[in-house]
Amino acid sequence: MIKFFSKLYKSTAEDFYGELHGRLERGERTFIVTANPEAFMFGEGDPEVEALLTDEATSVVADGIGIVKGASMLGINLPERIPGVDIAQRLMEQGNELKKSIFLLGSKQEVLDAMVKVMAEKYPHLTVAGAINGYVPDKDAAFEEIKKATPDIVLVALGIPAQEKLIYKHLFCFEKGIFVGVGGSLDVLSGTKARAPKFFIDHNLEWFYRIMKEPSRIKRFYNSNVKFLFKVKKLAKENNK
Ligand code: UDP
Repeated sequence: MIKFFSKLYKSTAEDFYGELHGRLERGERTFIVTANPEAFMFGEGDPEVEALLTDEATSVVADGIGIVKGASMLGINLPERIPGVDIAQRLMEQGNELKKSIFLLGSKQEVLDAMVKVMAEKYPHLTVAGAINGYVPDKDAAFEEIKKATPDIVLVALGIPAQEKLIYKHLFCFEKGIFVGVGGSLDVLSGTKARAPKFFIDHNLEWFYRIMKEPSRIKRFYNSNVKFLFKVKKLAKENNK
């Protein structure tokens, strides 16, 4: 677990977006994992997730407040969260400014349709190289389509860890591209689902809002976050011995 924490991006969100802009401009292949406690817990039990979280080709940022708090308990100071939904939005803005192309893989077809409309209105210089919903049976075949399109930005919305595993499996076949697993971000950015009100975001309570809206998330929350917290507490104790 400690090795996942050490790999986290340790500067501010604005610094991160600045670096991202440079990478997009230069066409540097980049894989961003937006980590929450669930991701780190998967990394403990699944060698594939462990490998992608520790690979030097991967940038891991703290999406969840649990990661920021956990890091602090282990003596690693992270200035703030860098939410996946903000990364997705920034990439669209930067892609528009730099006249780049984007490919979307994942989420429901109606979400993609709405997202493509929103992008055409807000980001007219961003070319949509393709969009494939996340319910097609063969996701590897979908990735072959992405390879043909050679997009500059690839957002994969299938949920953790399926999206990260799929990206990692195909990543090294690409020469360029910013790849991000964005979870439910397209649901929000397309206007299909509301993001938490500002109060919840500002007070790091976005997770709480999502549970209130979708109570079925509670089991997932317990399995990842509560167990994660116990694990980090134990690690922190051992470190202080
Ligand atoms: N999804 C998908 N195919 C699937 C399962 C999920 O495209 O087989 C999409 C789903 O529509 C949603 C996203 O993956 O847009 C996952 O969202 P969730 O809110 O669960 O992810 P989180 O942000 O919590 O990681």
